Amino acid sequence: MNKILEIHNLHISFKTFGGEVQAVRGVNLDLYEGETLAIVGESGCGKSVTASSIMRLIPTPPGQIKEGSILFKGQDMTKCSDKKMRGIRGVDISMIFQDPMTALNPTLTVGDQLTEGLRQHRRVTKKEADAQAVDMLNLVGIPNPDERMKQYPYQFSGGMRQRIVIAMALICEPELLIADEPTTALDVTIQAQILQLFNKIQKETGVSIILITHDLGVVAKVADRIAVMYAGKVVETGTRREIFYEPQHPYTKGLLHSVPRLDQKGEKLIPIDGTPPDLFSPPEGCPFTARCPAAMEVCSRIYPYSTVRSETHEVDCWLQDERAEKYSATIQS
Ligand code: SF4
Ligand code: MG
Repeated sequence: MNKILEIHNLHISFKTFGGEVQAVRGVNLDLYEGETLAIVGESGCGKSVTASSIMRLIPTPPGQIKEGSILFKGQDMTKCSDKKMRGIRGVDISMIFQDPMTALNPTLTVGDQLTEGLRQHRRVTKKEADAQAVDMLNLVGIPNPDERMKQYPYQFSGGMRQRIVIAMALICEPELLIADEPTTALDVTIQAQILQLFNKIQKETGVSIILITHDLGVVAKVADRIAVMYAGKVVETGTRREIFYEPQHPYTKGLLHSVPRLDQKGEKLIPIDGTPPDLFSPPEGCPFTARCPAAMEVCSRIYPYSTVRSETHEVDCWLQDERAEKYSATIQS
């Protein structure tokens, strides 16, 4: 499979009055054509910042990409001109956000909003654009699309509005779709329908998807691979199977124990005690040390090396590294 996106050693900081927040600290991620990669973690772990930086949507200043590269089909997004970026956004790469209402213009009909992108970026007549918009509404499961095209956002339910937003994101046939907490604002039954819709869209269009979420239930339904982020770093990546059935990082295990699972009835939910470290002055060693039940001497001093467990499974934790004992001994003496 070909890689459509390669993120190398990405560092992003934000300047604030209180100092510099190191939001993303050396992230490496790959995305293959046609797959869904979920980026999971608590709020503030850097998952949204990483995703927004792909489309260069972080405000600069106060944000700054300090180091690293983001290759989309071989082209470095960190080095593209603003003009080039405008041509890529919404056409090659689209993004969907949490709240469908803010993404829609209340004063324009759904049809006008759907065809706007097309008419801007593709040479199509109004008739062709309308026909494509109707097809898109069909794809995302809006009944009577011809009629609905003439209506305004307020005439749709929250779930329907999110479907429209997804249709808008897909209308120019992007190769990469980034969805940041796309179901968080919706109630549970609608959430499930929207997640099914992502699966359907991927099957029918082959689009690659990055899904940002704090919710492992969402991940279990749609992700092919999962990257777990903590304090600005990717601490574990693996296939859905590897992460759910063979998690190795204590933080990943903690996340899994803190959400209800249908396949393990009666299991007690255990929240992860403590809070993530301050990213104004992040710790030198493993950022999970203060919360980790298995922390060793070396953990607080040196960030763990990545251990490769399989072609798809990688983890940054000293427990995986046989040198941990030796290093701990040197530190103690
Ligand atoms: Fe825990 Fe140490 Fe592994 Fe960090 S490196 S997760 S502190 S055992
Ligand atoms: Mg977020």
